[in-house]
Amino acid sequence: MDGKYIIDEDKQFIAGTYARFPVAFKEGKGCRLYDYDGKEYIDCGSGIAVNIFGVNDEEWKSAVIAQLNNIQHTSNLYYTEPQARLARMLCEKTGAGKVFFGNSGAEANECAIKAARKYGELHGGEHKKQIITLKDSFHGRTIATLAATGQESFHKYYGPFPEGFVYAEPTIEGVESCFNENTCAVMIEVIQGESGVNVLGEDFVKGVEELCRRLGALFICDEVQTGNGRTGHLYAYQAYGVKPDIVTTAKGLGGGLPIGACMLFGDVAGVFGAGDHGSTFGGNPVVCAGACSILSRIDDKLLASVREKGKYFVERLKKINGVKSVSGMGLMIGIDTSKPASLVAKECLDKGLLVLTAHSRVRLLPPLTIGKEDIDFALKILNEVISQ
Ligand SMILES: *Cc1c(COP(=O)(O)O)cnc(C)c1O
Repeated sequence: MDGKYIIDEDKQFIAGTYARFPVAFKEGKGCRLYDYDGKEYIDCGSGIAVNIFGVNDEEWKSAVIAQLNNIQHTSNLYYTEPQARLARMLCEKTGAGKVFFGNSGAEANECAIKAARKYGELHGGEHKKQIITLKDSFHGRTIATLAATGQESFHKYYGPFPEGFVYAEPTIEGVESCFNENTCAVMIEVIQGESGVNVLGEDFVKGVEELCRRLGALFICDEVQTGNGRTGHLYAYQAYGVKPDIVTTAKGLGGGLPIGACMLFGDVAGVFGAGDHGSTFGGNPVVCAGACSILSRIDDKLLASVREKGKYFVERLKKINGVKSVSGMGLMIGIDTSKPASLVAKECLDKGLLVLTAHSRVRLLPPLTIGKEDIDFALKILNEVISQ
């Protein structure tokens, strides 16, 4: 088996939705991946913020395999221990009242949209269904979450979209001017990942929360990418000192297996009744057993190390010739470079470093456990590529 064969087969049989890098990975350990020629790569992408503890993590594997040896799936017609355990853990760590599990970030957001609309109707009337999101936001690829995504480029070809989404400029006046009697919620990413790691200001995020309270709307944080320790906080909203009514997460939670979670806080926790929502695979026991292993290890010590490593990265990145600016929080880092981001990513790949891009920026989302040696290797390659 060689990489070229896989790439050719993929090109022939897989729908052409991905602009993939020309590499297939065979195996790996921690932050190091190997292709079919045995070439080593240092991973600063984590499969897009998914592999928090890198690849082939022993503890996570043991948890998954133990559950596989018990039962792999039951459907949500029955109770399972890992699902209940993961939900308790999420609630205890965040203060949420209840959790709904889906299989992806988009599904977590679909659940948030449904929860906000049902809550809006129950508390304000049938018209109260509109959700304000931000320009340049990203909330997923399903039709409703695309409609929630405030970027025209994603909307091409796929309309008509469900109604009830308006896109605000990311200012308090911008958000306030979108409010009307139909508004049931405002949904934001406190750090916009897909649009280039735009960190929203604290005054703005607190202002949005205040607007929601004053004007009677729910405050939703999409933490699909920012969640699960990525920013040096379990969830990034916690760094802002706000209290959302709904928090969604996915990517890093499952350690590499698909999961999405919609956490419902306070009064909103009781919004759903039997039959209101569901998912065949959502909260699958194997995935949840793995997620419990992941979540239980995102402790204060790990979070402090993420903040420290982020700082180390950013301080050194800022000194590289050709770096115009660096944004981010913890190990979610965006780099504005003189060289086009896509070229930086390609040249890094050639030199054995995996980085991501987001809009015009280079984006780094390394495993949270990345070691100093690997960070220094990444900085060395980035320096070579960006400054030349
Ligand atoms: C990735 C992402 C999503 C979509 O998650 P999927 O698992 O791909 O459906 C939604 N919101 C944000 C902020 C994301 O980064």
